[in-house]
Amino acid sequence: MRKRLALQEYKEGVLSGDRTKLSQAITLAESALESDLALASDLVQEILPFTGKSIRIGITGVPGVGKSSFIEAFGKMLVDEGKSVAVLAVDPSSQKSKGSILGDKTRMEKLAGDKRAFIRPSPTGGALGGVSTKTREAMLLCEAAGFEVILIETVGVGQSETAVKNMVDFFLLLMLAGAGDELQGIKKGIMEMADGVVIHKADGDNQTNAKKARSAYKNALHLFPLGQNNWSTPVLTASSVTNEGLSDIWMMIQKYNSQMDKSGFLESNRASQRLKWLDENLQFLLGKFFLEHRQVQEMLNQNRKRVENGELSPLSLARDLIDFFFNEKKI
Ligand code: GDP
Repeated sequence: MRKRLALQEYKEGVLSGDRTKLSQAITLAESALESDLALASDLVQEILPFTGKSIRIGITGVPGVGKSSFIEAFGKMLVDEGKSVAVLAVDPSSQKSKGSILGDKTRMEKLAGDKRAFIRPSPTGGALGGVSTKTREAMLLCEAAGFEVILIETVGVGQSETAVKNMVDFFLLLMLAGAGDELQGIKKGIMEMADGVVIHKADGDNQTNAKKARSAYKNALHLFPLGQNNWSTPVLTASSVTNEGLSDIWMMIQKYNSQMDKSGFLESNRASQRLKWLDENLQFLLGKFFLEHRQVQEMLNQNRKRVENGELSPLSLARDLIDFFFNEKKI
């Protein structure tokens, strides 16, 4: 059975940068057990004053674009410069058979072996809202443990991007040259979310194509109006095999960070992200407590067939269950 520590032990362990305690604290924060929830939320509250000092970077792109390779090469470059780096993931597919994106991180061996790096596979199970609030808490725990750069990986398909965009300062989109937008499954919305675009695998024979793609994307991005932060999204090329272009990406992110810090956007963005975190928690916890309530489950199971048959309206059943749940809680 998993050992549960006392609040102070978790807190002191995390703040002193103890890896084992940090891992245990993240496991606690990820726990789906109701009995862990109070301790986990107390811990996050306790460490909150020690958070916020890292650069938070989200990385997305379709499977195969080279996210893991990029994170390993980019992370290695940073740790070689003396930075400490934590790698997290939001993976909506982790509950399915595919396994989590950072689950089999034999691919990140070089980075994982470095004492300045910390790699955490994505939490498994639960709805995306649940998974992403847990990743946000893991991020805060890593910050409290002193990590200076947080890299959060997500697969470029669907809602998980929005979840990651809502917890990072800089959102990086990896793309490939020679593949149409449709082919890459990249929607315009995701391009608009990006603070930086990288044409990846710009090495060998692919270099010329990468340069062409870079101009094409630059032109396309010029058509987008500037966002609230007044930042015009740069398009760069890079290779995680030759490491070419990686330092330019880091320079771009640092430039963004200092610009946004000066303008006040960094803080105002984090402030609105905190409110989104509250919304996510409310929705997640309400859903969880409601759907896990034993009598609600029983009533749901008893009446599911009637909804399926068209005998009972889904709205009417949902309202009855909710009425029942809240009346029950009042006692
Ligand atoms: P992910 O699914 O986005 O995490 O992609 P991976 O990091 O697993 O990479 C997918 C494939 O692309 C692997 O076979 C990598 O070896 C290869 N790859 C990754 N980065 C590069 C790169 O910069 N250049 C080249 N030529 N291949 C790369």
